[in-house]
Amino acid sequence: MTRVFHHDHHSKGDQSASDEGKPIAFIPHDEAGHRRAANRALALSALGLFATGGLELVLAVLTHSVGLLSDALHNLSDVSTSAVVFLGFRISKRQPSPRFTYGYERAEDLAGLGVALVIWGSAVFAGIESYRKLVDHVATTHLGWGMAGAVIGIVGNQVVARYKGSVGRKIQSATLVADARHSWLDAVSSLGALVGLILVAMGHPLGDPIAGFAITVFIAHVGYEVTSDVVAHLMDGVDPAILARSESAAANVPGVLSATVRGRWTGRSLRLEVVPEVEPTLTVGASASLAHRVEREVLQSVVEARFVDVRVQPADRPS
Ligand SMILES: [Zn+2]
Repeated sequence: MTRVFHHDHHSKGDQSASDEGKPIAFIPHDEAGHRRAANRALALSALGLFATGGLELVLAVLTHSVGLLSDALHNLSDVSTSAVVFLGFRISKRQPSPRFTYGYERAEDLAGLGVALVIWGSAVFAGIESYRKLVDHVATTHLGWGMAGAVIGIVGNQVVARYKGSVGRKIQSATLVADARHSWLDAVSSLGALVGLILVAMGHPLGDPIAGFAITVFIAHVGYEVTSDVVAHLMDGVDPAILARSESAAANVPGVLSATVRGRWTGRSLRLEVVPEVEPTLTVGASASLAHRVEREVLQSVVEARFVDVRVQPADRPS
């Protein structure tokens, strides 16, 4: 549970976030049970993918298939993603300290940077190996075993996708459902490795390095998406639609003439700074209770917001 840092900041707890690093749909009841279910689904999926990627890696070494190697690296970097996200999540739960007064939630964003590095590293490695296979004309051997490896990749990712999808829909977790879609796409990537090996079996040895390059591009795409997400968070980027919703919620409170809102993410917590303009003649007591109403209104209408800081400002000219 997130703590309330100042007496005038109200925490909404963890209801608008999941354990995986992204904001998710609002979960109305049994929050703790849902979080446990999400955690279990992610942990079991990571184990399944670890087994899948490990088997593929062994068969890639046996067969010299770079398509299979790239797919194995992709699956294993997905596993490391879950591991790093879990670690970041654990650190981010620590209470604020005299030095880190906003808490440790940015640990999740730093963990995200680590994840991005792992993904880019495996893309570079897969690309180099595919290039070497292309120019060195190394033969792909044990084609049957290689195809079996690619089939393991397809089946493993499909099973994980179905499992995460069914748990995600049951507990209404948008993150898990999105993760299931990712695993479904990863099964398509394994299918690419299989197609490459079938081409080799049909007498087209370039099928495998081409599959390797295709999967490399796929890994790079995932790397780009993860990196742009994490960098946007670290740069305090907030969806303008969320800010617009916050401004109109604040402006709807009687007594508020207009309102400006700024926001930033720390980990999965969105912090909003709301500045409502009011009549300069408003008393201190009245403006304090108005600030309280603005805070409640914004927290209610913006599900993503975790902390709302209201600073009432007298308008330049009374209207
Ligand atoms: Zn993936």
